[in-house]
Amino acid sequence: LDGQDIKYRLRQGNSRKYATIKFLSREEMEIILPRNIEVDPQELLRKKASLIERKYRELLSRQMILDGDTLLYKGKLFQIEVLRNDGIQKKRVSTRDGKIQVSIVEGENPATVLRNWLAEKTRQYAKRIIRRNSKNPATQAIEVNIRDIRRWGYCTKSGRLVFNWQLIALPPQVAEYVVLHEYAHLFKFNHQKAFHKILANNCPEYKAREKELKKFIPIAHISLPDR
Ligand SMILES: [Zn+2]
Repeated sequence: LDGQDIKYRLRQGNSRKYATIKFLSREEMEIILPRNIEVDPQELLRKKASLIERKYRELLSRQMILDGDTLLYKGKLFQIEVLRNDGIQKKRVSTRDGKIQVSIVEGENPATVLRNWLAEKTRQYAKRIIRRNSKNPATQAIEVNIRDIRRWGYCTKSGRLVFNWQLIALPPQVAEYVVLHEYAHLFKFNHQKAFHKILANNCPEYKAREKELKKFIPIAHISLPDR
C-alpha cells in the first residue's frame, strides 16, 4: 500500500458468513474469517483493494498514541527514554523535559512497565472525572475497569465502565469526553435523545470533542524499538 509492505494475519471469527478486514497498526492487518464459508484471503484482499486503500489513508491521517519511541501522553508528545539497570526506583516512570523516562531492571520489558503505568494513570483519571461529575454516592463509587480493548471505552448492561488503558494519552478534554459518554450510559443505555441530554449536561461541547476523538486511534500492540 503506497509503497509500504503491510503484513496480515488470519483469525477465525464468530460470524457465519462475513469476513472482516482491519488494520492493527500501520504495518499490520488482520483478516477475520467466517465460520461457515471458505474465504481465500488473497482473493478477498484483491476484491476489497479500493476499500483497504481508503482505510489505509484514513489511518495515516490519524495520530497513534505510540509511534516508534514517541508517546502521546495527555495530548502531548514525549520521547521515551529507557533507563536500564537503574535499580528499583520509587517512581518507575516519570515525565521530564519532554521525555518519559522508564526505569527497568534486568530482564524487564520497558513496554510492559510503560503500559502498566498508563493503565494506572487512566484508572485514576476516569475515577476522578466520575467523582467530579456525580452527585450520587452510588455512581461515584462505580467500578472502573481498564482493559486492552480496540475501542476507547464501553459500558456494560450491568453498569460496569471499561476503558482502554491508552485513554490517558488523549488530550484531557477528549479523554474526559470518553469517560462522560460511557458514564451517561449508566443512565441511558442507547444513543437516543435522552442520552445526549444527560451527556450534554456534563459535557456541553460533546459534539466537538467526539469529532476531535476521531483523530486518534489506540494501538493494537505495545512494543518499543530495541536498542
Ligand atoms: Zn455510547
